[in-house]
Amino acid sequence: MRIARFTTGEDPLYGVVTGEVDEFGQPDEDSVVVALAGDPLYVGVKLLDQEHKLSDVRLLAPVLPRSKVVGIGRNYAAHAAELGHDLPEEPLMFLKPNTSVVGPGDPIFYPRQTRELHYEGELAVVIGRICRDVPPEQATDVIHGYTIANDVTARDLQRSDVQFTRAKGFDSFCPLGPWIETDLDPQHFKDGVSVQTFLNGETVQDGSTADMIFDIPALVAHVSSVMTLLPGDVILTGTPEGVGPMEVGDEVEISIAGLGTLTNKVAQR
Ligand code: MG
Repeated sequence: MRIARFTTGEDPLYGVVTGEVDEFGQPDEDSVVVALAGDPLYVGVKLLDQEHKLSDVRLLAPVLPRSKVVGIGRNYAAHAAELGHDLPEEPLMFLKPNTSVVGPGDPIFYPRQTRELHYEGELAVVIGRICRDVPPEQATDVIHGYTIANDVTARDLQRSDVQFTRAKGFDSFCPLGPWIETDLDPQHFKDGVSVQTFLNGETVQDGSTADMIFDIPALVAHVSSVMTLLPGDVILTGTPEGVGPMEVGDEVEISIAGLGTLTNKVAQR
């Protein structure tokens, strides 16, 4: 099931997106959104007698993390190498504030404090229930679903600051969407799913989730051994090689096979 959050100009609603997505992540023309009563994370999936053509609604971030977005650094060997780092011996964690989250089509604002704004296309895991100390073999039980993220990074500030907080934490630095797919499991991604990023239509990242150093169950176990995870918390699973700069006016599209495409443009703050 694909769970989206959307608006038709009125108050935002959650909804179930029907129809097929092609290999480039584009939904077919007949796709509709069936509205839901409340947030399915908390009240389950309760269909309302209200539906809209997908093309008639504006999609919003499919989840609003109440507490945190947990990033994982250097989880693809080729990306660690391109930044000049050794492979991590355990997952490298950082936090992005929930105020960094924006939705599909929202602008990524270029902050005046940086000269080197980078995209990072990533698979995002959405947590479904409160949990801590989750064993890897039980990770599936606490995962609500999967979506796409852009772990936007001010690379120069990441190099100059000891902590990643500023480099990863500006408003609009965590686009999420277009929706949450709830029917996949971690093995699906371990088998290898394509993660691609396009900058103004040109392919700049072309990776596979099979190349993650730490798989999804290992990441859920590791993060939850440190901090309690709440419904709606998000774990970003790291980016493949090919990160690079974005300029004002650029359009960034991130496609993950089976999940769709997340598109945002860079704007002057
Ligand atoms: Mg990242």
